Amino acid sequence: MMFKTHMAFALVIAYAAYRFFPDANVFVFTFLILIGAAMPDIDNKRSKISQKAKMVSALINSLTKHRGIFHSVFIPLGIYFLLDMILGGYYGMALALGYLSHLMIDAMTPLGVNFLHPITTLRLHGPIETNSFVEKILLAGLVGILFFIGAQMI
Ligand SMILES: [Zn+2]
Repeated sequence: MMFKTHMAFALVIAYAAYRFFPDANVFVFTFLILIGAAMPDIDNKRSKISQKAKMVSALINSLTKHRGIFHSVFIPLGIYFLLDMILGGYYGMALALGYLSHLMIDAMTPLGVNFLHPITTLRLHGPIETNSFVEKILLAGLVGILFFIGAQMI
Protein backbone atom coordinates (compact mmCIF):
# COMPACT_ATOMS: atom_id res chain seq x y z
CA MET A 1 0.00 0.00 0.00
CA MET A 2 1.04 3.60 -0.56
CA PHE A 3 2.31 5.79 2.30
CA LYS A 4 -0.72 8.09 2.08
CA THR A 5 -3.16 5.16 2.27
CA HIS A 6 -1.37 3.96 5.42
CA MET A 7 -1.59 7.46 6.91
CA ALA A 8 -5.28 7.87 6.06
CA PHE A 9 -6.17 4.46 7.52
CA ALA A 10 -4.06 5.20 10.63
CA LEU A 11 -5.99 8.45 11.17
CA VAL A 12 -9.29 6.55 11.00
CA ILE A 13 -7.91 4.02 13.51
CA ALA A 14 -6.67 6.87 15.76
CA TYR A 15 -10.15 8.38 15.76
CA ALA A 16 -11.81 5.02 16.49
CA ALA A 17 -9.32 4.08 19.23
CA TYR A 18 -9.04 7.43 21.02
CA ARG A 19 -12.28 6.95 22.95
CA PHE A 20 -10.62 4.04 24.78
CA PHE A 21 -7.78 6.33 25.93
CA PRO A 22 -9.63 9.32 27.40
CA ASP A 23 -6.56 10.47 29.36
CA ALA A 24 -4.27 10.49 26.34
CA ASN A 25 -3.20 13.76 24.72
CA VAL A 26 -5.03 13.61 21.39
CA PHE A 27 -2.10 15.08 19.43
CA VAL A 28 0.54 12.79 20.94
CA PHE A 29 -1.80 9.81 20.57
CA THR A 30 -2.48 10.54 16.89
CA PHE A 31 1.18 11.33 16.16
CA LEU A 32 2.31 8.01 17.67
CA ILE A 33 -0.27 6.08 15.66
CA LEU A 34 0.96 7.78 12.46
CA ILE A 35 4.61 7.02 13.32
CA GLY A 36 3.66 3.41 14.11
CA ALA A 37 1.88 3.13 10.76
CA ALA A 38 4.99 4.34 8.90
CA MET A 39 7.42 2.03 10.72
CA PRO A 40 6.94 -1.40 9.05
CA ASP A 41 8.18 -0.19 5.65
CA ILE A 42 11.63 0.45 7.13
CA ASP A 43 12.27 -2.98 5.51
CA ASN A 44 11.72 -1.45 2.05
CA LYS A 45 14.57 0.77 0.82
CA ARG A 46 12.28 2.90 -1.34
CA SER A 47 9.72 3.72 1.37
CA LYS A 48 9.24 7.19 2.86
CA ILE A 49 10.51 6.15 6.30
CA SER A 50 13.63 4.54 4.77
CA GLN A 51 14.41 7.81 2.97
CA LYS A 52 14.25 9.58 6.34
CA ALA A 53 16.32 6.97 8.21
CA LYS A 54 18.76 5.72 5.56
CA MET A 55 21.31 4.20 7.97
CA VAL A 56 18.72 2.26 9.97
CA SER A 57 17.01 1.15 6.77
CA ALA A 58 20.29 -0.05 5.19
CA LEU A 59 21.08 -2.08 8.31
CA ILE A 60 17.60 -3.63 8.49
CA ASN A 61 17.60 -4.34 4.74
CA SER A 62 20.90 -6.19 5.03
CA LEU A 63 19.42 -8.43 7.74
CA THR A 64 15.81 -8.97 6.65
CA LYS A 65 13.58 -9.14 3.60
CA HIS A 66 10.64 -6.89 2.68
CA ARG A 67 7.45 -7.98 4.46
CA GLY A 68 9.36 -10.39 6.68
CA ILE A 69 9.80 -9.90 10.43
CA PHE A 70 9.05 -6.15 10.18
CA HIS A 71 5.64 -7.06 8.79
CA SER A 72 4.85 -9.50 11.62
CA VAL A 73 3.02 -8.94 14.92
CA PHE A 74 6.21 -9.57 16.88
CA ILE A 75 7.75 -6.13 16.34
CA PRO A 76 4.63 -4.18 17.49
CA LEU A 77 4.21 -6.57 20.43
CA GLY A 78 7.85 -5.94 21.39
CA ILE A 79 7.38 -2.17 21.03
CA TYR A 80 4.25 -2.32 23.16
CA PHE A 81 5.80 -4.34 26.01
CA LEU A 82 9.04 -2.35 25.99
CA LEU A 83 7.41 1.09 26.03
CA ASP A 84 4.76 -0.05 28.50
CA MET A 85 7.52 -1.22 30.84
CA ILE A 86 9.67 1.91 30.44
CA LEU A 87 7.10 4.70 30.07
CA GLY A 88 3.73 3.19 31.00
CA GLY A 89 0.67 5.10 29.83
CA TYR A 90 -0.68 4.83 26.32
CA TYR A 91 2.50 5.40 24.28
CA GLY A 92 3.33 1.77 23.53
CA MET A 93 -0.28 0.94 22.73
CA ALA A 94 -0.60 3.89 20.33
CA LEU A 95 2.58 2.97 18.43
CA ALA A 96 1.59 -0.71 18.29
CA LEU A 97 -1.91 0.16 17.07
CA GLY A 98 -0.51 2.28 14.25
CA TYR A 99 1.93 -0.48 13.37
CA LEU A 100 -0.85 -3.10 13.26
CA SER A 101 -3.01 -0.81 11.12
CA HIS A 102 -0.21 -0.89 8.53
CA LEU A 103 -0.11 -4.69 8.55
CA MET A 104 -3.92 -4.93 8.28
CA ILE A 105 -4.11 -3.09 4.97
CA ASP A 106 -0.88 -4.53 3.56
CA ALA A 107 -2.66 -7.88 3.98
CA MET A 108 -5.15 -6.71 1.33
CA THR A 109 -2.42 -6.67 -1.36
CA PRO A 110 -1.36 -9.66 -3.49
CA LEU A 111 2.04 -9.83 -1.74
CA GLY A 112 0.15 -10.00 1.56
CA VAL A 113 1.43 -10.29 5.12
CA ASN A 114 2.68 -13.23 7.16
CA PHE A 115 1.61 -11.97 10.58
CA LEU A 116 3.54 -14.73 12.39
CA HIS A 117 6.77 -14.61 10.36
CA PRO A 118 9.03 -16.61 10.79
CA ILE A 119 6.99 -19.12 12.84
CA THR A 120 4.52 -19.94 10.08
CA THR A 121 4.41 -19.50 6.33
CA LEU A 122 0.72 -18.56 6.40
CA ARG A 123 0.42 -15.39 4.35
CA LEU A 124 -2.84 -13.46 4.22
CA HIS A 125 -3.34 -11.57 1.00
CA GLY A 126 -5.96 -9.82 -1.08
CA PRO A 127 -6.58 -8.39 -4.52
CA ILE A 128 -5.61 -4.72 -4.10
CA GLU A 129 -2.41 -3.90 -6.01
CA THR A 130 -0.27 -1.11 -4.54
CA ASN A 131 -0.79 2.22 -6.33
CA SER A 132 -3.63 0.74 -8.41
CA PHE A 133 -6.96 2.32 -9.26
CA VAL A 134 -8.64 0.18 -6.58
CA GLU A 135 -6.19 1.42 -3.94
CA LYS A 136 -6.96 4.99 -5.01
CA ILE A 137 -10.68 4.27 -4.54
CA LEU A 138 -9.89 2.90 -1.07
CA LEU A 139 -7.84 6.02 -0.30
CA ALA A 140 -10.67 8.27 -1.52
CA GLY A 141 -13.08 6.36 0.75
CA LEU A 142 -10.76 6.81 3.75
CA VAL A 143 -10.36 10.53 3.02
CA GLY A 144 -14.18 10.73 2.76
CA ILE A 145 -14.50 9.13 6.20
CA LEU A 146 -11.92 11.59 7.58
CA PHE A 147 -13.86 14.55 6.16
CA PHE A 148 -17.02 13.16 7.74
CA ILE A 149 -15.22 12.80 11.09
CA GLY A 150 -13.79 16.32 10.74
CA ALA A 151 -17.19 17.78 9.90
CA GLN A 152 -18.67 16.27 13.06
CA MET A 153 -15.98 17.94 15.18
CA ILE A 154 -16.78 21.46 13.97
ZN1 LIG B 1 4.21 -2.34 4.34
